[in-house]
Amino acid sequence: MQIYRLKINKNICIGCNDCVVSCPLNFQQLKDKGYLNPENAVLLVRNGVAYDIYDESRDINCDGCGVCLKNCPVSAIELQLIEVK
Ligand code: SF4
Ligand code: SF4
Repeated sequence: MQIYRLKINKNICIGCNDCVVSCPLNFQQLKDKGYLNPENAVLLVRNGVAYDIYDESRDINCDGCGVCLKNCPVSAIELQLIEVK
């Protein structure tokens, strides 16, 4: 299993939320449940900075598609493949 984590540069992130709304997994959750919170989102903004959420106990985690990277206006996001099982 491939596990991806986002490395977000807190010094340049402007908290615009573009990554959060562009993420296809977040979008699907929003469509299905009508809300995003740390339990169902894979990426959120808190205190003006984006952060990723990983929880191995759930089915939804970042799949490494890279859409959020492309949509970040300041290129604050890097994608890291941290584990292959
Ligand atoms: S890489 Fe894809 S799945 Fe992962 S947080 Fe970014 S947009 Fe979402
Ligand atoms: S798109 Fe980039 S600048 Fe905007 S909240 Fe996400 S990481 Fe931060």
